[in-house]
Amino acid sequence: VHTLLQTLSDIVGPSHLLTAPELRARYETDCTGRYHGHAHCVVRPATTAQTSAVLAACHAHRCPVVPQGGNSGLVGGAVPHDAVVLSTERLNRLSPIDTAAAEVVAEAGVRLEILQNACQAAGLVFGVDMASRGSATIGGMVSTNAGGLHVLRYGSMRAQIIGVEAVQADGTIFGKIPGLRKDNTGYNFPSLLTGAEGTLAVVTRAHLLLHPALPHTCTALLALADIESAVILTAHLRLHLPSLHALEIFFAEGMHIVAEHFQQSLPFPEEHSTYLLVECADTTNPLAQLAAALTRPEVQDAAVAEDSVGRERLWRWRERHTEAIRSIGIPHKLDIALPLRSFPAFTREVHRQIIDIAPHAQTILFGHIGDGNLHVNILGLSPDDMTIDEAVFRLVSSYGGSISAEHGIGKTKRPYLLLHRSSEEVSLMRQMKEVFDPHGILNPEVLL
Ligand SMILES: Cc1cc2nc3c(=O)[nH]c(=O)nc-3n(C[C@H](O)[C@H](O)[C@H](O)COP(=O)(O)OP(=O)(O)OC[C@H]3O[C@@H](n4cnc5c(N)ncnc54)[C@H](O)[C@@H]3O)c2cc1C
Repeated sequence: VHTLLQTLSDIVGPSHLLTAPELRARYETDCTGRYHGHAHCVVRPATTAQTSAVLAACHAHRCPVVPQGGNSGLVGGAVPHDAVVLSTERLNRLSPIDTAAAEVVAEAGVRLEILQNACQAAGLVFGVDMASRGSATIGGMVSTNAGGLHVLRYGSMRAQIIGVEAVQADGTIFGKIPGLRKDNTGYNFPSLLTGAEGTLAVVTRAHLLLHPALPHTCTALLALADIESAVILTAHLRLHLPSLHALEIFFAEGMHIVAEHFQQSLPFPEEHSTYLLVECADTTNPLAQLAAALTRPEVQDAAVAEDSVGRERLWRWRERHTEAIRSIGIPHKLDIALPLRSFPAFTREVHRQIIDIAPHAQTILFGHIGDGNLHVNILGLSPDDMTIDEAVFRLVSSYGGSISAEHGIGKTKRPYLLLHRSSEEVSLMRQMKEVFDPHGILNPEVLL
């Protein structure tokens, strides 16, 4: 390890090789506090060439490498176990926005919020947004195929990518920047690397497409009697609200936790079981469209906002869930996708099964109902006890759902991959891994 550390220090400069425990610490624990690990060192290359040299050196020493962006991932994928952490935080350059083409090139370590601000100044938007925007990076978002709040309008990260530059485990640089919006010349590497969770290559740059900014936005928080009403309303809104921009769900339990943690008074005078957050955005004011939807019989109460302060106040109920839950304890966070029609039966059964196994556990559900995506958060379990996780995954599988909608497999779900992917598919994935990384040094504990 000593020779390797010296080589890495020569490549990036001694101040960008972190070996002291207090400097490594924030790279060794994830943002939920559930996963802890140990890094031999943290290395912070500033260019693609340095990234390539770092990987070539680690490859020569057969030393495992864990790429890390903002460390906001929720499945333990960026937490090292006796590995070198390759942090992308110095790969943080953003090209000038090409307003004519509505495109931009971002290095892997550019944080989502920085990209969003640059787009806003150019009258454009980036299609993916999520509550972790202050820490999540473009490289991490490519590698997890991040979803977030606007998948129903713009698609997930995969749909935003024109080209990717990446470095293989042995240091080989590949990929085309700039890419082309249309390019059918064989296997599509950007798509393959999207969602690969850093197991095939380290992403260094991405060429991204942007969308015109929509100047009129309005947001409504709707109170509903039950999840059945939420499913009916979701189907209706998708068909009848062409300006639909976000459609989120949460429940009374989460609402109370947020109210308590942030000392906010509840938004409605009465108690309700289920809440939908609906956002519309368009080139003309979509308020009339949204108001028509609010007359539906499923809506028991509603709060509407058009100005940014009021809209942000409504969004907080949804976006503050993660922080409020974290303030109570370390949650098990399961991110699942289901056919929309299964939501009512699944939510009832998941609560019942969790209580049967762990009577003191607290279950908080929220998610992106517009994409059939629920986040199952369970408090009161020990971090390593996977009994409930497995029961939930099996339940999801019985409904034809996915054990990961958007967070990835990481370390947490690795033993359960076969609940959703066939053995033939997993075998093909292993063969691909072998081609890209024959010595298995890239994220060896993740995905496969
Ligand atoms: C409050 C909160 C809200 C969130 N909301 C959402 C949401 O709505 N939708 C959603 O999809 N996710 C969400 N997430 C999860 C997380 O933000 C995303 O998974 C994000 O894409 C991770 O980006 P990151 O830069 O933090 O990656 P990291 O956490 O650093 O890494 C994630 C994975 O990608 C790999 N990786 C990182 N960078 C690279 C690279 N350059 N090349 C190759 N591999 C790499 C890592 O090894 C790891 O396996 C949320 C997280 C939090 C804390």
